[in-house]
Amino acid sequence: MNLWGIDLGGTKIEGAIIDPANPDRALHRLRVPTESQHGYDHILGQISKLIASLEETSGLKRPAMIGIGTPGAIEPSTGLMKNSNTVCLNGRPLQTDISAALKVEARLANDANCFALAEATLGAARGSYVVMGLILGTGCGGGVVVDGRVIAGLHGIGGEWGHNPLCGETDPCYCGRSGCVEQVLAGPSLERYYRQQTGEAIRLPEIAQRAEAGEAAAKATLERLRHKFAEAIAVVINILDPDAVVIGGGVGNLGLLYEDATRQAVVEHVFNSEVRTAFLKPILGDSAGVFGAAMLTAR
Ligand SMILES: [Zn+2]
Repeated sequence: MNLWGIDLGGTKIEGAIIDPANPDRALHRLRVPTESQHGYDHILGQISKLIASLEETSGLKRPAMIGIGTPGAIEPSTGLMKNSNTVCLNGRPLQTDISAALKVEARLANDANCFALAEATLGAARGSYVVMGLILGTGCGGGVVVDGRVIAGLHGIGGEWGHNPLCGETDPCYCGRSGCVEQVLAGPSLERYYRQQTGEAIRLPEIAQRAEAGEAAAKATLERLRHKFAEAIAVVINILDPDAVVIGGGVGNLGLLYEDATRQAVVEHVFNSEVRTAFLKPILGDSAGVFGAAMLTAR
């Protein structure tokens, strides 16, 4: 069975045809530029062009249903896009318009939800029943997958753990509140914390190297990450109790998140005497977005 997915990003649109039984690589994969400066209708045209090219290179006809992953979400009550960083998509009935343009049923989901779905069904958490996929990078997003289905939620915000508050934190957030998880755990927030300690503006990978070399401020930055992450993920575990948590994004590359000391830190915040949750590094890399989009059509 072949599944077709589209990863609609701000700079490129990627399309792939996958066989879920053989998820190591896509059967066919193509990219076109988004060229969002030319507006909404142009983007729809680029998507049509991409699907026509996929038909041509694969020799296959488009299926009755195609999955699409993109930043932002559909407001379920109106069907209109919101929260997209490609701002010309906001307020538009994107899923309906793609369906009309491609003459197929389009299923659209948030890109973090697609990441979670891909890792839950084809990737690191394959075989797990309840999976929380985190994007912990320049921001904090996430998605919940149960039995191979995305839980988008009544408001389309299922899995959005990044704007929960953390105890004692007060940094203002663009969402209008303060002390959000994202303002503490995202890469730029960690870099800001290090800069406040040292006056030095360096990137997270270098902070990690300095911590490795024993520098006190760098070690303090990462220990803070460990304990604040533990507090933040404990909220998710108390409510959802997932079998697996997959941690994507640049911060997710840091080995300390997978150490036993971090698990012990989580135990301190969870309503249980132990935490057996699997904390996993993603394995699909850049493919997760487009693979997850394709998997939207699997069931
Ligand atoms: Zn916030």
